[in-house]
Amino acid sequence: MRTHYCGDINETLIDQTVTFCGWVHRRRDHGGVIFLDVRDREGLVQVVFDPDTAEAFNTADSVRSEYVLQITGRVRARPEGTTNANMKTGLIEVLGKEIVVLNKAQTPPFPLDGYSDVGEDIRLKYRYMDMRRPEMQEKLRFRSKVTSGVRNYLDANGFLDIETPILTRATPEGARDYLVPSRTHEGSFFALPQSPQLFKQLLMVSGFDRYYQIAKCFRDEDLRADRQPEFTQIDIEASFIDEDTIMGLTQDMIKGIFQKELGVDLGSFPRMPFSEAMSKYGSDKPDMRIPMEIVDVEEFLQEIDFKVFAAPAKDPKCRVAALKVPGGAELSRKQIDDYTKFVSIYGAKGLAWIKVNEIEKGVEGLQSPIIKFIGDENTMKIMAKLEAKNGDIVFFGADKTKVVCDALGALRVKLGEDLNMYTSEWAALWVVDFPMFEENDDGSITALHHPFTAPSCTPEELEANPLAALSRAYDMVLNGCELGGGSIRIHDQSMQQAVFRCLGISEEEQHEKFGFLLDALKFGCPPHGGLAFGLDRLIMLMTGATSIREVIAFPKTQSAACVMTKAPGEVSNAQLRDLHIKLREKPKAAE
Ligand code: ASP
Repeated sequence: MRTHYCGDINETLIDQTVTFCGWVHRRRDHGGVIFLDVRDREGLVQVVFDPDTAEAFNTADSVRSEYVLQITGRVRARPEGTTNANMKTGLIEVLGKEIVVLNKAQTPPFPLDGYSDVGEDIRLKYRYMDMRRPEMQEKLRFRSKVTSGVRNYLDANGFLDIETPILTRATPEGARDYLVPSRTHEGSFFALPQSPQLFKQLLMVSGFDRYYQIAKCFRDEDLRADRQPEFTQIDIEASFIDEDTIMGLTQDMIKGIFQKELGVDLGSFPRMPFSEAMSKYGSDKPDMRIPMEIVDVEEFLQEIDFKVFAAPAKDPKCRVAALKVPGGAELSRKQIDDYTKFVSIYGAKGLAWIKVNEIEKGVEGLQSPIIKFIGDENTMKIMAKLEAKNGDIVFFGADKTKVVCDALGALRVKLGEDLNMYTSEWAALWVVDFPMFEENDDGSITALHHPFTAPSCTPEELEANPLAALSRAYDMVLNGCELGGGSIRIHDQSMQQAVFRCLGISEEEQHEKFGFLLDALKFGCPPHGGLAFGLDRLIMLMTGATSIREVIAFPKTQSAACVMTKAPGEVSNAQLRDLHIKLREKPKAAE
């Protein structure tokens, strides 16, 4: 139907006749001449119809936005003064000779270049229209380039692309499962995979040695900002490797993609222990573009009368820490109040501060509502430890360790952004030496990564003191986002059972839920490990998109629904009966 894409018609084709197809982007009537901008995935081309070719002219006159056309015409240079350097096709135009309306279009629900005036719901309801926008086309093409780069790299390094089931059993990654009722097994349910974790490990037992998959994963998580119930992972596993091999391979893959697609050299990826990340940055995914560190100040506050600081300073489960913000003394009362509100989201009950005006004058040169509680001497010792300078503000957090880390960690990132403190555009690192487990509020423990991660100690040491054990997990972090994470796995049955015991999973439950894994570990499982990258987040970072919804063709809304297909939807009673399901409340649309 066509000889060229619209966006590919350029000055090399001058005087040639071309045929192309596309959508009417804009139509202009310039005193007897009609201009159409016709768009396809490669770009726009300007077509001119003059009244000499009466039939084509009349058709061109009748078309409206988003009509689908086939046009044949002659390429010519644009008249001097009318060229457009910003357009790929800006030096030429096509003199239209024939035009066929392949399909009409109703008035679009929103003008493509006026998309920002309509809400996201409208854009998602008419996603197929939204995706006609060049920006959306660009993002999804970029995504395709990245996945093809990933495949090329992994193929070249001997990884095999193997698919794993979508209808499966629960794979614990810490979220709720999406369940699918079985028709043939009354009362039983499949779970959609939270990740292909156990299957990729079993592929190692089978001897495939290196596996990858660009895999859909499903997690029914609480509504947190910018998560999708189904998302895509670049899932990787390899045998007979250690941390250095798999981290090196995947680091080279990510570096290669940044270099090729963005011309960015991500440099070296330093490794940082989890404990350092938490203590200095309050986060296991520190944004290293921001040159600020959180500093512990308990040692100066244990003996004071002021309980708000003294009590947590003495409690080993608590933390009292300070964040020094260069230039922050300029913050107004109102801004400080706003930051106080901000940290309250993370559970902080307040945000104490000291402004450093003239440090050479001692406490006289400081301004703060809390010095009278801390005492002059302690205050100056804290200032000395922080190496506070004129113009700084120091914020304090005093609470349970988690609250202080979360609050000061988030405040650090927010201030870094608000005060534009970035020292580089990109900052990548590996976070390593994670604890194997974390303690829940009720005293029970959960695996920090997942229960198949190898601890760095023996099974005996692990069971003697689970909360002290570290794991062989690693996360790749870029600009404060977790790009990917993984671990060396347990390949030994007794170690796997020790981990299950630590998690309070009874022998019976172990066999019921993970019997196939425990069996496989008995039949010659090689040492292995791997990791998974979040593809959506990677593309979001690389394209500078503000949400992962912008880089997914058909995303769900924040309430995990699709406004276009209206999924999830009700089903008929007959279907429910087939599935052996009776709803508690009668569905409204029952047949
Ligand atoms: N399965 C893990 C996850 O989805 C990644 C891995 O350990 O490879 O986070």
